[in-house]
Amino acid sequence: MIKKNFLTGEYVIFSLDRAKKPQNIKTNILTTPIKFCPFCIENKKMTSEPIYSCFNDEIRLVYNKYPIIVSNEENYGVHYVLIDTKNHEKDIINYTNEHMFYLTKSIKDILNMLYEDEKLKYVQIFKNKGINAGASQSHSHWQILGLSILPNKQKYMINVLKEYEDKNQKCYFCNIDYSENLVSENSEFVAFCPDDSLYCYEINIMPKKHITNIRYLDDYMLEQLGKILKKCLIKLDLMYNNIDYNICIYSGFREEDEYHFFIQIIPRMGNLAGFEFSTGMFVNSTLPKDAAKFLREI
Ligand SMILES: [Zn+2]
Ligand SMILES: [Zn+2]
Repeated sequence: MIKKNFLTGEYVIFSLDRAKKPQNIKTNILTTPIKFCPFCIENKKMTSEPIYSCFNDEIRLVYNKYPIIVSNEENYGVHYVLIDTKNHEKDIINYTNEHMFYLTKSIKDILNMLYEDEKLKYVQIFKNKGINAGASQSHSHWQILGLSILPNKQKYMINVLKEYEDKNQKCYFCNIDYSENLVSENSEFVAFCPDDSLYCYEINIMPKKHITNIRYLDDYMLEQLGKILKKCLIKLDLMYNNIDYNICIYSGFREEDEYHFFIQIIPRMGNLAGFEFSTGMFVNSTLPKDAAKFLREI
């Protein structure tokens, strides 16, 4: 069965027999020695002074020492690292609810801060955990990239969402029937496996209300977002201990580009290779409904 992903236009082949293929998804565990870890509080001299901090310096925003984009005459951009714990060994799944609240609040505060910079058209917040997800440091952190251009993927997404809304008089996300794809929910948020998931066991988290940017969340909603994010990561960890993953936050940045915001969690189970790179098509070996049922019951 081949499906077209609504938001990106990319094709995904559901190839259920592939799941039977023997695989070893866990090969290397990334561990940086504390002595060389720039994100440990005792090594804070290895990074810039924090541009933002909260929760008693547990969470700090610093400049990325090796930025993807450097501002010069032709380009403009910013690249920060959000260190979300002082503790080298701690992982999100061990954070308290209070810690999770400050994590989501720091993301809101940083988006507000970057919003003041009129040269930025788009801000991408993401987290790479583990070697398979592209991380180079084992100490928990996020990356925040501000760009002076809107990426093509976001342009495409905004266009299809606008088209959908014009045609249906309703937001695409508000209209999703996630009942069979539900992973977890609370009063404000829902986590589900989208029917057109490009990635095996992909989870999306979105607000139940039509909210277009994390900047608009109040404290109660930030708390609920922190709780559901942690819950989803615990479920993935129970599925495969110490699983690598990427988290991507899709939150409209400028008002004209806003849509129902969502967070995508992509477990890295080794499914990106030559076929995906050459065709731009994806292979998913688990039906999202089955993945959701498995994660819901874990
Ligand atoms: Zn560290
Ligand atoms: Zn909506």
